[in-house]
Amino acid sequence: MKKIGIIGSTGSIGTQTVEVIRELSVIEPGSFRVSALACGSSVEEMAKQAREFDVRLLCTGTKAGAERLKEMLADMKPEILYGPEGLKELASSDMDVLVTAIVGMAGIEPTLEAIKRGTDIALANKETLVAAGEIVMREAKSRGVSILPVDSEHSAVFQCLRGIKRDELEKIILTCSGGPFRTYPKEKLSGVTPEMALGHPTWNMGGKITVDSATLMNKGLEVIEAARLYSVGFSDIEVTVHPQSIVHSMIKTKDGAVLAQLGCPSMKLPIQYALTYPDRLPCNVPALDFEKGLALTFEKPDAEKFPCLGLAVSAGKEGGSMPACMNAANEKAVKLFLDGEIRFTDIPEIVEKAMNLHHKIIDPSAEDIIRVSNETYATACL
Ligand code: NAD
Ligand code: MG
Repeated sequence: MKKIGIIGSTGSIGTQTVEVIRELSVIEPGSFRVSALACGSSVEEMAKQAREFDVRLLCTGTKAGAERLKEMLADMKPEILYGPEGLKELASSDMDVLVTAIVGMAGIEPTLEAIKRGTDIALANKETLVAAGEIVMREAKSRGVSILPVDSEHSAVFQCLRGIKRDELEKIILTCSGGPFRTYPKEKLSGVTPEMALGHPTWNMGGKITVDSATLMNKGLEVIEAARLYSVGFSDIEVTVHPQSIVHSMIKTKDGAVLAQLGCPSMKLPIQYALTYPDRLPCNVPALDFEKGLALTFEKPDAEKFPCLGLAVSAGKEGGSMPACMNAANEKAVKLFLDGEIRFTDIPEIVEKAMNLHHKIIDPSAEDIIRVSNETYATACL
């Protein structure tokens, strides 16, 4: 039986993970057990999950949330933790795999804690690999921990790489939906409101990643994520805009073959594959219908219209603490945009300014990464 912990269990990836586990429990009864759950503020939703799966270890964002949870689950008497320290404690509890469905840099410390304990990571929280990728991969390797990608592009690459020798891989080609403003005139981008940015054409996701998808920062973060996961150079990663979101990503081998993974836009398959790897089990997602016809298009991303993509890639190339700075500045800028305090086009301005002001640490420790992230988040502004 595989014991699974989920941090961020009430969000988009978290609830889909719960759905996948519910479905897997029917196909393979007794093979999966939810051993720990954590959320930010949606304690009612998490209490329901805890009851359904009889989960005895829980963590929530605040002490007040923990008290509400305690009342709601008084008959179950679970252990209830709260805050960042509670999250670290939960992440270091006994489990086989931790699904990191939490959003933003709050994922860094619990992910590192779980790796230290030897727990495999089903990684959705890309911000952790962006900010602390070199440390995460080094620690994981030294402890024999698997980092299993949940992000759909990285899962696609992971699936394509099965059976491919390391020296046969020539390129990783990440697909990108292009976001809601792909065909929008550049001059009008400054008038984009949070409501407009939150309407993604093909994926239904949490607020931060939806804005990141609209600025193309999400793809920039994913380029760094791919570089760290698969130890490839930035020149070996290409981004192509594919508005239909059917080809989830591709690899090119040295003989020129291009291998792709295709499917309807759904996160359930990548989530499930991370949990069942190396096995494949039936997955409840709509199948592609080739009889209806399928038009797939690809185009170059517009780097001038969406500067976040280039900023992220340059932070990745610089390495050291620069990706942590870039990531935290973006997280702050997205918050300011969603709070109505800055314009959509101010997001790359804030990121660029923070990167220009940053004194890079060449070989940062985990503590350095956390300090740089917190300081940048606190100070980043227009
Ligand atoms: P979301 O906003 O829908 O959910 C975030 C979850 O994290 C919620 O359960 C929230 O309660 C919890 N949370 C937030 N701050 C917390 C804190 N300080 N302590 C404890 N819990 C906290 O986000 P999402 O769309 O599910 O994305 C989660 C992660 O997965 C992000 O890193 C995102 O980039 C990545 N991802 C998401 C998708 C997607 O389709 N949604 C796809 C690929 C990757
Ligand atoms: Mg993705």
